[in-house]
Amino acid sequence: MNYQCCYCKEEFPAIEAIDGYQEGYKVGFLCPKCGKNIQDNPMNEEWVFSSNSSKIFFVIFVGYFLLAWIFLEVSGLNTWVDYAAVLGGVIPFLIYGHIKYPKDMYSPTIGTKPVK
Ligand SMILES: [Zn+2]
Repeated sequence: MNYQCCYCKEEFPAIEAIDGYQEGYKVGFLCPKCGKNIQDNPMNEEWVFSSNSSKIFFVIFVGYFLLAWIFLEVSGLNTWVDYAAVLGGVIPFLIYGHIKYPKDMYSPTIGTKPVK
C-alpha cells in the first residue's frame, strides 16, 4: 500500500512513512519527501488511481461484481454452476487489471490529510 502526501502529492510506500513521535508529532506520520506531518484518513479513505482509465476500470470491476452478486441473491440461482458463472466473469477483469494496471491492483495508493 502507498500513501499520497496531501502537501507535495508525492506517493510513497506506507512502510517509508516516518514516525515523528520522538520529535513531538503525536498524530499521524511524516512524509518522507517533504517532511510535513500528515495522517491517513480511515473514515473517508480516498483511493488515488494512477490514471483516469484505471479508475474507470476499477469502478466497472466493482460494479460488475456487486450487480452479479445482487443478481444471484435476487434470482434465487445459487447452485455452484451459477456461482461459477458469475465468478468466471470476474476472471477477465483480473487478467486485464493484471496486465494494464498492476500498480493500482497490487499496490493501491490512498490519500492523506493534514494534521491540525
Ligand atoms: Zn510530502
